[in-house]
Amino acid sequence: MIYFDNAATTGVSPEVLDKMLPFFKERFGNPSSQFYEAGRSAKEALENAREIIAGCLNCDINEVFFTASGSEADNWAVKGAAEAGLAKGKNKIITSAIEHHAVLNTCKYLEKHGYEVVYLPVDENGTVLPQTLKDAVDDKTSIVSIMLANNEIGTIEPIAELAGIAHEAGALFHTDAVQAAGHIETDFKALGVDLLSISGHKFHAPKGVGALITRKGLRLPNLIHGGGQEKGRRAGTENVPYIVGMAYALKFACDNMEENTKKIKAIRDRLISGIEEKIPYVKLNGHREQRLPGNVNFSFKYIEGESLMLWLDMNSVAVSSGSACASGSLDPSHVLLAIGLPHEIAHGSLRLSIGDLNTMEEADKLLEILPPIVEKLRAMSPLYENK
Ligand SMILES: *Cc1c(COP(=O)(O)O)cnc(C)c1O
Repeated sequence: MIYFDNAATTGVSPEVLDKMLPFFKERFGNPSSQFYEAGRSAKEALENAREIIAGCLNCDINEVFFTASGSEADNWAVKGAAEAGLAKGKNKIITSAIEHHAVLNTCKYLEKHGYEVVYLPVDENGTVLPQTLKDAVDDKTSIVSIMLANNEIGTIEPIAELAGIAHEAGALFHTDAVQAAGHIETDFKALGVDLLSISGHKFHAPKGVGALITRKGLRLPNLIHGGGQEKGRRAGTENVPYIVGMAYALKFACDNMEENTKKIKAIRDRLISGIEEKIPYVKLNGHREQRLPGNVNFSFKYIEGESLMLWLDMNSVAVSSGSACASGSLDPSHVLLAIGLPHEIAHGSLRLSIGDLNTMEEADKLLEILPPIVEKLRAMSPLYENK
């Protein structure tokens, strides 16, 4: 199989699994049980993981709060800041039209509960223009949530500048850095944000673990109530093996970032230029330069992304289409519509997301397989005939 869907998830790497295994076995203790060695050993691993993550993201150890997913971190940031803001008479939330559903649907939920939400538009590259935030933000705004890098089209947003604008108006700033962490430099201090979400399974840790980095001095209401874990802010016995796995996975990703980026970018650029050369009527989606190293997203006019995906699957290539088929809906992706694609073109979109385990040979293989599939599908398409 050729796996070009690394933005959906990645496998746990053997080195990460090795780091995790002791915490399923001899070091199984509850980190809250401090009166015997098994508990102390788990606690030590937990705090060591916190230190590793803080080192990778350039934040303080005390700013790292573990969660059970990237979605949970996003929910906590946005709901928490919105609730805290309301106590100060602020009922406005600002986000962008291209956020992940973990942020977008949280905002829709809050809208139903009386908050005002502004969905900032993006330009044709998927960039949030700072001026649009300047125009929208005011002293009623509690939180601005804009992603560091988009999961569908790979566009990297000018977060440091946007955070500065939010702060000038007295609003908090959250960034969903789930696609960024471990892939591009993700420096909490340099970004100047108050809240930052990550998720382990996008960089070779298991699914079901994440973190919300919360700036020192900022205390959000709890999302999960219960025991005193995570300084009383996020209850639930810590998932020690997964947290340890996430810490080492992030460390390996950051230690090897330069080398991996070079390799991944080369594969990405081969795919982009290859598709543009070999297939007519295509459009690259997302920003050409301010783009995740592993993201390729194309619209293929006159055909459906779904059919392309199925044909590629029959050839053992795993990719993702631009339609929200995961949710069982036939609507095209909100991200592709937000960058101005008409429905019929958004429907013919494909995302190839490249990871460190992919090879140039796989890219070349794809460039052999894809053009005849596109040609075959177009030959069957009435839209193509009448173009
Ligand atoms: C995957 C993803 C999430 C959700 O993370 P989970 O750990 O799967 O809940 C949130 N935001 C972005 C940008 C993502 O790519």
